[in-house]
Amino acid sequence: MVVMHNTTLYASILGVVAPWRVTEVRTELAKGQILVHVDMAGDGKPSCPKCGTVGPKHDHRKRRWRHLPTCQYQTIIEVDVPRVHCPEHGALQVEVPWAERNSSFTVSVRSPAQTCSGGPAAVCWVG
Ligand SMILES: [Zn+2]
Repeated sequence: MVVMHNTTLYASILGVVAPWRVTEVRTELAKGQILVHVDMAGDGKPSCPKCGTVGPKHDHRKRRWRHLPTCQYQTIIEVDVPRVHCPEHGALQVEVPWAERNSSFTVSVRSPAQTCSGGPAAVCWVG
């Protein structure tokens, strides 16, 4: 059996790869939520989404996505998305790779109060 830490487990099942990393998994069971915090590693080099130029980090914006539930808990991915400073295009938010690839990630959550009624149900294997 492989024992994984929560952050490693979530990085693995969510497909989070370098320079992105899962820094924290917080269970807020009273709210029925699991909050997975993701950011770009300090040495990660953001690139301009328009021209690909690698530039310095300008700042970052907190964005949230809702993933499929972990068992009955709503799984919220909270990401510090950096903005890159491109000499040609100015400060732009970098692309979050897994958000484009996996459509279940693209449900943007504007406020944690938004609920996911009627969303896809997850099945928990117990056997
Ligand atoms: Zn650019």
